[in-house]
Amino acid sequence: RQLVVAVDGPSGSGKSTISRRVAQALNARYLDTGAMYRAVTYAVLRDGVDLRDAVKIAAVAEGVHLTIGTDPAAPHIAVDGVPVDREIRGAEVTGAVSAVSAVPAVRALLVAQQRQIIAEAERIVVEGRDIGTVVAPDADLKVYLTADAAERARRRSSENATNQAATAADLARRDRLDSTRAADPLRQAEDAVVLDTTTLGIDEVVQRLQHMLDK
Ligand code: C5P
Repeated sequence: RQLVVAVDGPSGSGKSTISRRVAQALNARYLDTGAMYRAVTYAVLRDGVDLRDAVKIAAVAEGVHLTIGTDPAAPHIAVDGVPVDREIRGAEVTGAVSAVSAVPAVRALLVAQQRQIIAEAERIVVEGRDIGTVVAPDADLKVYLTADAAERARRRSSENATNQAATAADLARRDRLDSTRAADPLRQAEDAVVLDTTTLGIDEVVQRLQHMLDK
């Protein structure tokens, strides 16, 4: 029987670290859907498309070829055969990704690709914003991670060696855009297990999830 674990939550909630570690412990695949939205955004910027032009953004998404690896120990992503792992974490892509991911046609394309990847896996941990609600509503376990805004900014700025105040402002802006957009906003699934990684810490959350999955 297939095992699908959906992990959703805002930026800096610990999703990636936790999802990768749980996937490794389960000997499962790992899918970072945020990396897919970032990769399309990379292509949109590469092609010089205006971020207000949803029609052109959708055309870029349709024309682009994404290759995403699902090894939790070594995630990688390529756009038209070119690796973009470093580029998709940069300030330019991070600043533009919410605008690109708000375009319904982009979401429809990526959700279809994500479902295909999930269908091909025996066990998989999938992280994003709409996994438990839209991409995999029948997931075996749905997790919604939260954390204090200050803690999320602290984590992100130490990861990226950026200024904490600027990171906090960027996270607040992305959270607002991601949770208020019309298409598949960030939302907690009704049947999700909610864990606050501020108080629990990353290790404790990983342990709890492993325990839930053992049963
Ligand atoms: O998870 P990460 O911060 O890399 O996601 C980058 C952006 O991609 C988010 O801010 C959001 O706009 C978008 N995203 C999304 N749906 C997902 C995953 C990410 O809209 N399932």
